[in-house]
Amino acid sequence: MKKKLTCHCGEFEAEVIIPENGIEKVMRCNCTLCKRKGYVIGVLGENDFKIIKGENILKLYQYYTKAAKHYFCSICGIHTHNRPRINPKIFGINVACVEGIDPFKLKNVGLNDGENHPLDQKK
Ligand SMILES: [Zn+2]
Repeated sequence: MKKKLTCHCGEFEAEVIIPENGIEKVMRCNCTLCKRKGYVIGVLGENDFKIIKGENILKLYQYYTKAAKHYFCSICGIHTHNRPRINPKIFGINVACVEGIDPFKLKNVGLNDGENHPLDQKK
């Protein structure tokens, strides 16, 4: 079903498609960025995320390999979504930004071992 994803101030808004039974893959991540934010990531497919408004006020943050794209609202500072390094086509969303989702009630939150990223293991 279609749901609204918004930052805190509401200047950024996207439409996301959430499966009836909830997002299949939900996780926290222990990478240097996510552990600081306490970001709970929901993984969505490449066609499940559409910006409705506020693309111009988004800021892009990149670090290390600069492969992943982390977006946040330049007004309220909320990290709304990201494009992961492992697959730049898909979306990671901040589940706390989605209407009707209470991240404190999710039962299936896993751990993404971003600290030991698979793309860093190939020597
Ligand atoms: Zn905002």
